[in-house]
Amino acid sequence: MVGERGLVEKKVYIETYGCQMNEHDSERMLRVLEGSFYLETKEPQEADLILINTCSVREKPEHKVYSALGRYKRVKEERGAIIGVAGCVAQQEGLRLLDRVPYLDMVIGTHAISILPDLLRKVESTGKRVCETGFDEKGTYLKTIFPTDSLPKVKSFVTIMQGCDHFCSYCVVPFVRGREKSRPSAEILDEIRHLAERGVKEVCLLGQNVNGYGRGLDQEIGFPELLSRINEIEGIERIRFTTSHPKDLSNALIKAFSDLSKLCEHIHLPFQSGSDRILERMHRGYSIVSYLERIERLRAFRPEMAVTADVIVGFPGEEEEDFNQTLNLIRKVQFDDLFSFKYSTRKGTAAAQLDDQVEEKIKQQRLVVLQEIQREITLRKNLAVEGRTEEVLVEGISKQSDQDMTGRTRTNKSVNFQGDLQLVGKVVPVRITKGFAHSLRGERLLNAS
Ligand code: SF4
Repeated sequence: MVGERGLVEKKVYIETYGCQMNEHDSERMLRVLEGSFYLETKEPQEADLILINTCSVREKPEHKVYSALGRYKRVKEERGAIIGVAGCVAQQEGLRLLDRVPYLDMVIGTHAISILPDLLRKVESTGKRVCETGFDEKGTYLKTIFPTDSLPKVKSFVTIMQGCDHFCSYCVVPFVRGREKSRPSAEILDEIRHLAERGVKEVCLLGQNVNGYGRGLDQEIGFPELLSRINEIEGIERIRFTTSHPKDLSNALIKAFSDLSKLCEHIHLPFQSGSDRILERMHRGYSIVSYLERIERLRAFRPEMAVTADVIVGFPGEEEEDFNQTLNLIRKVQFDDLFSFKYSTRKGTAAAQLDDQVEEKIKQQRLVVLQEIQREITLRKNLAVEGRTEEVLVEGISKQSDQDMTGRTRTNKSVNFQGDLQLVGKVVPVRITKGFAHSLRGERLLNAS
């Protein structure tokens, strides 16, 4: 198809698995590909380029990739589409993927997004298959890729660091994303100013361990100071960040929640297990007492602070008693929501060597019990918001009804209410009329002062 610029435009379909970091990486891929005249399509069967952006953190990652590749084989045969695998599985499997899938054209490692157009050009012009999984020690892979005019949004992710030095015993991130690397603050602030000029109201700062921001960069500022400078940027109304490691949650960062008006009162603080014995085996570097102290301090500064977390059940050696301690922690903290997973082995990690693996059936039973307890807590918390007025940043039309708009409270709860498209990008007062397990219903207050 010939586009407005008189150039042949092609279509790219990206299938994304896993975390927000991966979602943002897919967005970065779309941005770099626009320079090569590839525009996004939501239909794989009309794509000239299909990218599968993978995640190793969730269960059965390789299995998912191979079944997706099987689905797209036909598009390759019918349209000659170029097929690539990106993300953590690409990084980990590398050439093995090309060996196993003869119709796969590209393997794009976690540090190769900025050179994706070069890799693509190579495939297009030579027909040769490419695999790029080197680690870029200088960190140029993190450089800003500015959005083009075709992607206006209310909120945007901004990567501030990548990789991790913690080596938790179950996690592949240090192996597939590399060691911790922060971006220079000037570059991050520039990117956010640019986003603000284009109408972005909320930024979510991304990294595997954002509170470690600045480590290893000469003469750089720390994470609380970075937040404070973003707080000054005109046009930005809300700041969020994810993910934080409890060990690195400093007093200065906790205090930032009371000092910075744009920093939203929500923190995602994974605890992974409520048992000190299991935390030690996970190499997490904190105790349950110290985790609880941090939550207490956060709530002392911001009583309305919403807290969400990640938790793993069935880590090797987890006994009934350890699991009960996890449930006790959940009841004590009263999380707003939890992302809960059954432990599953990741190749190359320390925990993969442990021989006291928990039976699958027990893991599943524990997960069901835990999720039911959390479901009740989340519902109770959402019901408690009924009758309150919340500031909602309006994001767009609700998925539930095209008569409704959807947005989020400062505490990151999703709210649906009757409204129109003119509200998109505005912060409006909404009185909450009903709390559900996963969202809130409300009505917009027209005459609120
Ligand atoms: S802190 Fe632990 S779980 Fe988080 S990315 Fe680093 S190694 Fe993985």
